Amino acid sequence: MSLIVQKFGGSSVSNAEGINRVATRVLETKRAGDDVVVVVSAMGDTTDDLLDLASQVTPEAPAREMDMLLSSGERISMALLAMAIDAQGGTAVSFTGSQAGMITDALHGRARIVEVSPSRVRRAIDRGMIAIVAGFQGMSKDSNNITTMGRGGSDTTAVALAAALNADVCEIYTDVDGIYSADPRVVPSAHKLDRVSSEEMLELAASGAKILHLRCVEYARRFGVPLHVRSSFSHHEGTWIIPSPDDKIHLQEGEPLEQPIVAGVAHDLSEAKVTVVGVPDIPGKAAEIFGVIAGANANIDMIVQNVSTAGSGQTDISFTVPIVEGKDALAALRAAQGSIGFADIEYDEQIGKLSLVGAGMRSNPGVSHTFFEALHQAGINVDMISTSEIRISIVTHADRLATAVEAVHKAFGLDTEEQATVYGGTGR
Ligand code: ADP
Ligand code: ASP
Ligand code: MG
Repeated sequence: MSLIVQKFGGSSVSNAEGINRVATRVLETKRAGDDVVVVVSAMGDTTDDLLDLASQVTPEAPAREMDMLLSSGERISMALLAMAIDAQGGTAVSFTGSQAGMITDALHGRARIVEVSPSRVRRAIDRGMIAIVAGFQGMSKDSNNITTMGRGGSDTTAVALAAALNADVCEIYTDVDGIYSADPRVVPSAHKLDRVSSEEMLELAASGAKILHLRCVEYARRFGVPLHVRSSFSHHEGTWIIPSPDDKIHLQEGEPLEQPIVAGVAHDLSEAKVTVVGVPDIPGKAAEIFGVIAGANANIDMIVQNVSTAGSGQTDISFTVPIVEGKDALAALRAAQGSIGFADIEYDEQIGKLSLVGAGMRSNPGVSHTFFEALHQAGINVDMISTSEIRISIVTHADRLATAVEAVHKAFGLDTEEQATVYGGTGR
């Protein structure tokens, strides 16, 4: 008998029919003799709708109340799923994040897990019940307030519970059959990956492939939790994420030991570009600027500093930040304009980032050439570039991003004849 944690995303529980379908699926596992802990997301686009609603009430909602509001989405799903399981002859009990022992720090909207004590969940399983836990939420250790863990955070709830309960596998059920070589909504000819290394998955998730929450991948790698991403709408085998490069458990007979050069292409429309214009070209100014941004708790991704125009003694520094953090970053920079001594700030939300990821890129020097040639042939203007050992990313205009993704995907031979199936969801 195994213990399986099954997480169902918003698209899998978007209406009553979806809830009933998920209940049937969970009961199939339970009736096959395994113990099941279920983590659910809010139904469909509920979280977005709640955010819209709050913004109609006030543009400046207190962070504590925002978390109270957003955490309610997952509570609706958990209770309905417990009812559906009951109606289908099973026994289930639902728990909020705090009841399930998800203890976090006090950072509302992006709380991090500090402790997981799922004793009530454990007792429920020991009594033969199906435990259902509301994803994405916890309780602050210090204030006892309800917190949420950032968009897509239910994936992380599932892995954290799987680690704490020593589960055999954490299954992430979604609206596509697994992890593809690109978002199948953008590249329908993308192919499904049977396996992906956690190293590559970390880069893909960090580069905007929202199929998995970045922190869930980090957590799974850290605690060695096997992750299986699959569809709740089909019974196809999905994608396994291999915790470490040494882990050959999931390697099939006859499979080559060296991996393909490229795993996939990720894209991201959630960032904005900030350009600080006319920065004095003297030591310490970049430190001042990024100190101010760090103080505003904004996460910087790409950075480009232009060569200063001869004789001007000034340079421009551009960087990207998540759009949701852009406003605070700008306000903090403007407040420091006098002391830093720059001339102006430009802000652009119409940007898109494309990233090519592959562990085999390390040992293949021709990758950059193929990549930039593909962008050139597609007429894509590259605005910023950054690289890691196993990733190349560029920024271009948002309107051109889909074309760029298709071009790069094709250039690396990742297209297949078959069309990927997207079973549900709105892609919002
Ligand atoms: P859920 O509601 O199950 O949490 P998400 O919307 O968070 O689902 O994630 C699933 C979506 O992720 C897919 O519908 C797909 O559009 C998108 N996606 C982005 N990149 C990829 C990728 N490389 N492979 C598969 N899906 C991807
Ligand atoms: N409901 C939350 C969101 O939409 C958390 C999740 O779905 O994982 O971001
Ligand atoms: Mg998700």
